[in-house]
Amino acid sequence: MAQRGYKVDVFEQRQQPKPTDTRSHRSYPMVLSSRSTHGLKEAGLQLPLPGPQSAFLTLTGRLDLIREDDEYSKQYIVDRVTFGKHMYEATHQRYGSRITWHWGHALQHVDFDRRVATFSSSDPAAALSQGSTLQGSNADAPATSTTTSVSYELLIGADGAGSKVRQLMQGAVAGMKVDTKYFSSTTYKTYHGLSLRQGSEEPLPGFASHAPGQFIYNFNVKGMPTLVMWRQADNTASGMLTRARSYDAQELRTKISSAYLQIPPEWVESIVAQTCDTSGQPPSPFGKLMSTTRLDGPRCVLLGDAGHPMTSTLAQGCNLALESVRIFARILDSVSGDLDQAPAAFTSARLEDVHAMQTIEYMQILSSNAPGANANALEQMIAKATMLGSALFSQGLHKLMPSSFPAPVYLLDGLRDARVPYKKVLQTMQMHAVALIALAATLAGISSQVLQLVPQS
Ligand SMILES: Cc1cc2nc3c(=O)[nH]c(=O)nc-3n(C[C@H](O)[C@H](O)[C@H](O)COP(=O)(O)OP(=O)(O)OC[C@H]3O[C@@H](n4cnc5c(N)ncnc54)[C@H](O)[C@@H]3O)c2cc1C
Repeated sequence: MAQRGYKVDVFEQRQQPKPTDTRSHRSYPMVLSSRSTHGLKEAGLQLPLPGPQSAFLTLTGRLDLIREDDEYSKQYIVDRVTFGKHMYEATHQRYGSRITWHWGHALQHVDFDRRVATFSSSDPAAALSQGSTLQGSNADAPATSTTTSVSYELLIGADGAGSKVRQLMQGAVAGMKVDTKYFSSTTYKTYHGLSLRQGSEEPLPGFASHAPGQFIYNFNVKGMPTLVMWRQADNTASGMLTRARSYDAQELRTKISSAYLQIPPEWVESIVAQTCDTSGQPPSPFGKLMSTTRLDGPRCVLLGDAGHPMTSTLAQGCNLALESVRIFARILDSVSGDLDQAPAAFTSARLEDVHAMQTIEYMQILSSNAPGANANALEQMIAKATMLGSALFSQGLHKLMPSSFPAPVYLLDGLRDARVPYKKVLQTMQMHAVALIALAATLAGISSQVLQLVPQS
């Protein structure tokens, strides 16, 4: 919006981030693809991304190589907090004169007819200095808070999976329905600041010589807590602990050190100390998958997780969010900046694709038997047949004609390519699965014919 000359006010419920936040529980790794980098490029933003990711490196040292032939196959590993900081700095530097940031302002209410949004703030001095109208204290907000009402021309709800804008739209916008398809019961905790002592053995081959953001390291033994690690810009390793059944220090220490012999003992101690600290942050869930029937209301639009909450199962939430931003900007241009038309035009252009991505994620959740998925047997069978069928068929094509089909698993390649709409990815996977089933049925038919031709003794 600022790029197109609008004056933008950003209201964020949290306070302005501090440098130490890179070691907070919100600092987890995100894999960004061309869907994100193209979004940033079209918005005129240059972010200091680390070098492209080379591979997933598993405990056994097996390299799952990532293709990086062109800008559409490259991926980047960023930590969420640093990425947010870089986004803030880049927008501030490029469009600072048109953007006002209001930290510590939580949206409470929207009057969609009068186009007024009301925020509570625990920092009245900040609210006053922004020149807003203070309207007295709010009964729902903490005692010291004040409310600020702001008139708007267009309200963009980019307030995440628990979006207040979306909740308020549900009561005010005809035809707006929200369905929670899946709520992940798996949780994670993060840990930070692991460094290799001089002369210590590497936890994985080549670890000491890898560049920041070059690899994601997976320590994943069935039935054991899982550790995912990545290298930060300061060369220390950060990571996420998931699937821990309990945060009892002794139990966790024993499990990690027996399952992952390569991890240096001082790292195990640091991971246990950081994740079992009961005074710290409780474990965070991996999110929820919710689908909406609309992404728009009158002079109002939902972008990012607010419009399409995702889990991290296929690492698409941020990619989908930045792609939605790019598409909304294009829609705005196509209706010559008409703010009455743009929101509904956005739903028409984007919703099918968003639902396609959510269907792919849901199928992945079902086919991996993730706990909490509440589907019937037929849905589960279709999901498994599609995911497995597509993986096998695309691997077969890759083996037979590697230059025409460079990616062994089409899904992974399709998802990261900004030129391929998500609905095309879904259709192709369904086509693969049907082709494989047809091929298997034909082969079964031929072999039964052959068996009939063989004389019975
Ligand atoms: C462990 C994990 C790993 C992930 N990995 C990946 C990955 O590899 N690749 C990928 O693409 N995605 C990944 N994701 C998903 C990604 O993090 C999200 O999709 C992305 O952060 C969504 O961005 P957003 O701006 O829409 O929402 P958010 O990042 O949630 O931001 C919303 C903002 O709105 C603020 N807010 C909320 N309510 C209010 C209110 N009432 N008033 C004012 N402000 C409010 C919040 O404080 C927050 O700052 C991962 C998620 C998790 C949890």
